[in-house]
Amino acid sequence: MFSLNTQLIHIRGIGPKYLRKLEKLKIETVRDLIFHFPFRYEDFSKITSIMELEPNEQATVQGFVRDIGVRQSWRKRMFITEATVADQSGAVRAIWFNQPFIASILRRGSLVNLAGKIGWDEDEIYFSNPVYEIITDERQGQPRHTARLVPIYPETKGLTSKALRFVIKPILDALELLPDSIPKEVRARTKLPEINDAMQHIHFPPSIEDADAAKRRFAFEELFIVQLINVEEKLKLAQEKAATIQWDIERVKQIIGVLPFELTFAQKRSLWEILKDIKQGKPMNRLLEGDVGSGKTVVAAVAALLVSERGHQAAFMAPTEVLAYQHFKTISDLFKGFDCGIALLTSGQQRLAFSGLEAQSKKANVIKEIDAGRVHIIIGTHALIQEKVKFNKLGLAVIDEQHRFGVSQRARLARDWQKTAKTKYYPHLLSMSATPIPRTLSLALFGDLDISIIDELPKGRQEIITQIVAPADRQNAYDFIRSEVQKGQQVFIICPLIEDSPHLEAKSVTEQYEKLKNSVFPDLRIVMLHGQMKPKEKERIMNEFRSRDHDVLVSTSVIEVGVDVPNATIMMIEGADRFGLAQLYQFRGRVGRGEYQSHCFLFTDSPAVSTHQRLRALLIAKNGFELAQKDLEIRGPGEFLGTKQSGIPDLAMKALKNLDLVKLARTEAVKIIQKDQRFKKYPLLKTRVEELRKRVYQE
Ligand code: ADP
Ligand code: MG
Repeated sequence: MFSLNTQLIHIRGIGPKYLRKLEKLKIETVRDLIFHFPFRYEDFSKITSIMELEPNEQATVQGFVRDIGVRQSWRKRMFITEATVADQSGAVRAIWFNQPFIASILRRGSLVNLAGKIGWDEDEIYFSNPVYEIITDERQGQPRHTARLVPIYPETKGLTSKALRFVIKPILDALELLPDSIPKEVRARTKLPEINDAMQHIHFPPSIEDADAAKRRFAFEELFIVQLINVEEKLKLAQEKAATIQWDIERVKQIIGVLPFELTFAQKRSLWEILKDIKQGKPMNRLLEGDVGSGKTVVAAVAALLVSERGHQAAFMAPTEVLAYQHFKTISDLFKGFDCGIALLTSGQQRLAFSGLEAQSKKANVIKEIDAGRVHIIIGTHALIQEKVKFNKLGLAVIDEQHRFGVSQRARLARDWQKTAKTKYYPHLLSMSATPIPRTLSLALFGDLDISIIDELPKGRQEIITQIVAPADRQNAYDFIRSEVQKGQQVFIICPLIEDSPHLEAKSVTEQYEKLKNSVFPDLRIVMLHGQMKPKEKERIMNEFRSRDHDVLVSTSVIEVGVDVPNATIMMIEGADRFGLAQLYQFRGRVGRGEYQSHCFLFTDSPAVSTHQRLRALLIAKNGFELAQKDLEIRGPGEFLGTKQSGIPDLAMKALKNLDLVKLARTEAVKIIQKDQRFKKYPLLKTRVEELRKRVYQE
């Protein structure tokens, strides 16, 4: 008997070479191995008589080996194993390349199954590299490689599906009875198969329907655990206390009235949803989604001001220094007429502003002001958690571009901030994102959040003309850029993404910058920006660019998020194919913010049709949500969200596309938690939930 925790190393018959290969797939225990599911099946289920074989088809035959031998083709120095297998209807040749050992496995006279594709050569058909299996005894059990639906596994170099089948089958045959974490009642309601059957069927399905049911079951299981956590989180939060922020509608109108523009209807609606939440005395946990440029900042800022006027603090956390600084500028500008202290705290710089008067300050000083409760709106980066900041009375926490922070970071934030605040309250939490998350995903992953959506752009925004530029049209694009600059407009140029290497990325920006400055646009004022520059320098450059000291800003993706320069009307992206659609969408959103017609050029050297198809999605998508859906379809949930970041198992990731299954998992999770919040009756579920919590929240 094998148990789930049995180490493969202790199983007889798995040699050290296999073990090393399995290790590469991170497979070390029986559990790892049997949860390494096939991703498709080949249908060898019917045994065909040799007479009926057709060229170019897949088939399985059963017969006796009449002849077998190895010869060497001297020219190619290849071993060719050749056998003849016969049944009552006739005989067929089988050929294997470079597998001489087969001749010592398949002996003359053995009964074998051969399965594979039928080749065709000079009037004769043959099996080319067929899968083989010796049938020694009718009682030996089901064949594993032939005469059935044969599982095909994700493979690693040198570890074939055949090898995997070879080790998995005997283990499944002698596996202990697995406990089922999906409660019986849930299985009954959802009509999902029990785990032991499902485990057999997912590897060696009697029929494709059985395989599908088994897959559905395992996908459901993962989604179900995710949903249990979501529902649990939501319930837990509902049992916490938060500051009751009383506001009155007249004051809200007054504040909105002094803004330099009228809020859009969607902005008002979102603000209203937020304000309703923070009045409740229970922690808000809301996600504010809206396209780039839809004006999320001002919505959060008005909420923050109202919070501060009731004597509480509001913290804004942004993913980059550039963005934090910009928020600080925007908000201290917007509210210069109000009696409100505003602080900026990043690792690189610290500032304070009172009634529009701002000054640099020392870190220790800013931290002291926050601690004493003399500043009410605090804007910063990770420094807000990393530095020893103690909030005096934190009422509202805003996380901008929330997808840039990991799930665990986000989840811990509110809790950490609660600990550093001098009140016993949870802060209200507002997450903001310009990456619209398709409904399936948000339901599955952010099931514990309420969602507000800003689905309209401020009035007067023009559509951005987007073009994919092939290498041959580069010069035209450059000429166009020059003519726009001569009209007084500004240009962003984004350099290709170089993953995991900020250093190489900086180098590539520098090269690009030199080239543009020296040979393409020697007459224009060009500046560059990359992630390896000092915060002070980045800030200086952004400020200069904003005040039109430069025409062209060459940059890495550091400017991806949030940066606002209304006079910039051209976004040119080098190596556009290296970026995800959502990210390209973000870049494009940097332009089209002012009154002039804006353009976006996507440069790509890739001739691949798929690349163009993908980029084309950007040309036709009406809004970010549509694009996100597209991106999700093309890249799959794993890439879309970044599997590493989310901590969600692969299987659940794939299942995220299946809205019905996600909903079903949600409904069932609610039922279980309503009945038994502490999982007293469901110890197995409890363990699973705790395990996933550890992974996702790193608790
Ligand atoms: P995002 O949602 O991408 O964070 P921002 O908050 O940066 O967008 O807003 C983008 C720009 O739109 C800013 O310059 C902001 O001042 C402006 N803006 C926001 N709301 C409105 C509005 N209702 N009318 C006109 N301009 C607005
Ligand atoms: Mg923003």
